[in-house]
Amino acid sequence: MNIHEYQGKAVLKEFGAPVSAGFPALTVAEAVAAAKKLPGPLYVVKSQIHAGGRGKGKFKELPADAKGGVRLAKSVEEVEAHAKEMLGNTLVTAQTGEAGKQVNRLYIEDGSDIAKEFYLSALVDRETSRVAFVVSTEGGMDIEAVAHDTPEKILTFSVDPATGIMPHHGRTVAKALGLSGDLAKQAGTVLNQIYAAFVAKDMAMLEINPLIVTTQGQIKCLDAKVSFDSNSLYRHPELMELRDETEEDPKEIEASKYDLAYIALDGTIGCMVNGAGLAMATLDIIQLYGESPANFLDVGGGASEEKVTAAFKIITADPKVKGILVNIFGGIMKCDVIARGVIAAVKAVGLEVPLVVRLEGTNVEEGKQIIRDSGLNVIPADDLDDAAQKIVAAIKKA
Ligand code: GDP
Ligand code: MG
Repeated sequence: MNIHEYQGKAVLKEFGAPVSAGFPALTVAEAVAAAKKLPGPLYVVKSQIHAGGRGKGKFKELPADAKGGVRLAKSVEEVEAHAKEMLGNTLVTAQTGEAGKQVNRLYIEDGSDIAKEFYLSALVDRETSRVAFVVSTEGGMDIEAVAHDTPEKILTFSVDPATGIMPHHGRTVAKALGLSGDLAKQAGTVLNQIYAAFVAKDMAMLEINPLIVTTQGQIKCLDAKVSFDSNSLYRHPELMELRDETEEDPKEIEASKYDLAYIALDGTIGCMVNGAGLAMATLDIIQLYGESPANFLDVGGGASEEKVTAAFKIITADPKVKGILVNIFGGIMKCDVIARGVIAAVKAVGLEVPLVVRLEGTNVEEGKQIIRDSGLNVIPADDLDDAAQKIVAAIKKA
């Protein structure tokens, strides 16, 4: 689960990490009130969307030379003018995709005078089964580009969970960032605070880009991108309250209501499968035959007709879907239940794209009969290979 920058900073602050003062704002009036509470004379007006690259982003509704999604302001009046331009408009960044994201919240922050910008992030490294840090002198930039062009400017290390952050980690980071004296000490402290927050809150990723040194000699987290391990949310009710459903894919929210494992993808073939392994194999085989899947969807082992109907509706509501492949191996799941669910969904929402159904396993004959009797224009398939080829051919024809 992702959260907004201002929420991430509030979490970091709980652990003592240095962040600027600021207030979220949903309206222009709130933005003005927020600015009035800050000391000035420099303010930052920051779009709150679940995507990075906001500063360099562009608003769809504004002229191409308009400022981006993170703007400096030198007076309360300027804050007001920026808030008016930003709220309600759609920000397109390198991370949002072409559609962009509507800016519904702003964060009004006390502006910092920046002397240096660094990069610092922490993530769960599956290879070492530890929390790993990535540190670089190249702050405020796209870290993927830094990794590609100048990998020597990136330091990574992982932390032994038995010891946690040790003083030598702090020294290593300070050295990599060229810090000494008090700044080196501050860097060590921030590292400890960040690690503590990361572990206590079950984060999956925490990216501070940039981590800055101010002209007054203070280290500060100027940006914060935080995501939590969704499997741990049951033990963090306080984090669940930070969820902003307007930032999530509505199809994924709908799927979570029915306890369906659904992930939206970029392709054209909607998939309804039971079992994560079979679902992944289905995605692979679609790619093998030259098309790409529009989603991952595992309806689970004991899905009800209602659940199957919900799943099918989610797939057909996706405008990217040019064809649907239902691939069910009925073990616990019964093929007749799937067939009834598909038919109920088609009756409710119609079917405007080709549909290939491959059923195998428990009650398979009954399932096939139900589909034949329905009079629906379904293309039957016998096995996975056959099914994938048929759906790819069908969308090419359509
Ligand atoms: P991102 O573009 O989504 O990564 O948003 P950031 O929060 O990182 O802001 C983008 C850039 O705006 C930063 O890299 C800074 O260069 C600049 N910026 C953000 N806050 C301040 C501030 O308080 N003072 C100054 N001078 N620049 C800032
Ligand atoms: Mg940033």
